[in-house]
Amino acid sequence: MTEKSSTGEAPRGAAPAARLAHLRARVRDAAEAAGRDPDAIRILAVSKRQPISAIAALAGAGLTDFGENYLQEALPKISRLSGMDGLDQTVPELTWHFIGAVQSNKTRAIAEHFSWVHTIDRERIARRLAEQRPVELPPLDVCIEVNLSAEPTKSGVAPAEVDALAAQLTGIERLRLRGLMALPAPSDDFETQLATFLRLAELQANLQAQGHALDTLSMGTSSDFTAAIAAGATIIRIGTALFGPRGAR
Ligand SMILES: *Cc1c(COP(=O)(O)O)cnc(C)c1O
Repeated sequence: MTEKSSTGEAPRGAAPAARLAHLRARVRDAAEAAGRDPDAIRILAVSKRQPISAIAALAGAGLTDFGENYLQEALPKISRLSGMDGLDQTVPELTWHFIGAVQSNKTRAIAEHFSWVHTIDRERIARRLAEQRPVELPPLDVCIEVNLSAEPTKSGVAPAEVDALAAQLTGIERLRLRGLMALPAPSDDFETQLATFLRLAELQANLQAQGHALDTLSMGTSSDFTAAIAAGATIIRIGTALFGPRGAR
């Protein structure tokens, strides 16, 4: 049986490349339903707690953007996949996105090994990353993480603090503010998901009206990317729908 289940999941046990094809079809459907260009939506494969072999398989199938949450786990993967030593596949140059909490003692390694940081919530961390960004690399692309669900345990700035932080980040050399990111509390109701993502889109529109040139809305995971696309996501961050369940930490 190759039919998709009623939940739209890829078949259980499917290989990463098959999952990718399935996901791309769902992204295309969601984009078309929203009257958007599917090519304007970038799939960021969230590879935390996933093996190098699975990342290499997705890269071999044409994905170039990968996201990691934990620096210690990411560094060996990045170095292994940049050299591809011992792997029997030719893989294009990958773009690494840091999507976890940034601790101040990790900023140098993050600035050296990642192209993007999606989780900026303090000016001080942004300045450290900028100062430590190697001069031979392009500026670090960053998003401000917004805590839309007002959960005290979640990271990110409150919606009311977004404008002030965006102003603080403007003009920092070696850093490029690209937009906003959120990981809202999960909901299985499409309308609830949509309403939450539309709030992030509105915050972004407010910043644009103030003159910030932003092009990125990083929102939507395996369980809610359809609503995120309807609300204007330009990067969706997909883990389990591409890789299957994560391993233990
Ligand atoms: C783990 C993670 C994801 C991916 O979640 P899935 O449900 O596996 O798609 C996306 N964004 C962030 C910030 C994550 O930590």
